[in-house]
Amino acid sequence: MKVAEALASDLLSWYGKRKRSLPWRETRDPYQIWVSEIMLQQTRVETVIPYFERFMEKFPTLHHLAAAEEAEVLKAWEGLGYYSRARNLHQAVKEVEERYGGVVPDEEEELTRLPGIGPYTSGAILSIAYGKKIPAIDGNVLRVASRLFAITEDVGRGSTRRKIKELLLTIIPEEAPDQFNQALMEIGALVCLPKAPTCEECPVRHYCEGKKKGIESSLPRRKKVEKVKVEQRLTLLLYSPKGVLMRKRKESLLHGMWEFPNWLLKKGENPLPFLEKELSLLGIPLHEIPRPMGEVHHVFSHMIWQLSVFLLMLEEGDVAREDKLGDYCWVSKERYHELPVPIPFQRVYQLNDR
Ligand code: SF4
Repeated sequence: MKVAEALASDLLSWYGKRKRSLPWRETRDPYQIWVSEIMLQQTRVETVIPYFERFMEKFPTLHHLAAAEEAEVLKAWEGLGYYSRARNLHQAVKEVEERYGGVVPDEEEELTRLPGIGPYTSGAILSIAYGKKIPAIDGNVLRVASRLFAITEDVGRGSTRRKIKELLLTIIPEEAPDQFNQALMEIGALVCLPKAPTCEECPVRHYCEGKKKGIESSLPRRKKVEKVKVEQRLTLLLYSPKGVLMRKRKESLLHGMWEFPNWLLKKGENPLPFLEKELSLLGIPLHEIPRPMGEVHHVFSHMIWQLSVFLLMLEEGDVAREDKLGDYCWVSKERYHELPVPIPFQRVYQLNDR
């Protein structure tokens, strides 16, 4: 038996015994595989499972999702974060409905033209749903492959990724590319861990060049990333007899989700004069000092928000004219629970809802 065949055989037999039972592994429906892969980006498997199950109950087929309103989709995604994933998925599904009659394409070129589908997701759909011999290289597979082949170049570079893809193509078996790709992901999740790979339990340890050279823990190598930006944001829970003041975001971050008024504060800036000025722009007088409610800390992939939350209750006579409020509107308690609200602002709301 050749080395590649022996490796695949050892890997697949380990996967048959050790694989976790996950809802998206019970199907070869390309729509379900697609949704699961999008949800799993940057998100832990345990977190995704209940979201995936609820999503499939609400939108059991591609046609159901294509026909849904964006707000319904964002609501179903609420709490999972990285909402551009949901918006892209919804947009892409609508395109599949219109352009391909609701059938998920089985060609890489067509798939990667859809919003939110890159080489990894396309590889996962093509290999798992359509049985095509194409690698699916997510973070886990990148780590396993860079160790298995002892790749010492920066894995952030396109040339290194192409090299890894070519090497994987030499070991993926024709007859089970779906199982093989998922087995590599599973090794990355359970055995070939980022800091401490448990090589003694690994089914491919006899083939692992990184292990043989004793460099496995230093792989994969990548250039240092820049420091994450921290934003200090003054955030206001402003209540009137009509509800709480909110707006639908137009910015690309959390686009389409609902937020409370919040402003970027400069370092050392005094929040109260700043708040007074911003409220006067909305036609709201500041008769009393807003009550500090606490801090909400939220980590995005590229940025951290530090939200300093203040509470202010307006009387009927202090409520600004609607035309002065611009994008903002008063939201009742019932409506708040129907709107898609991202986690940091849900936590802001809870500061006054205990
Ligand atoms: S032998 Fe160790 S380093 Fe190599 S793939 Fe297995 S767990 Fe990873």
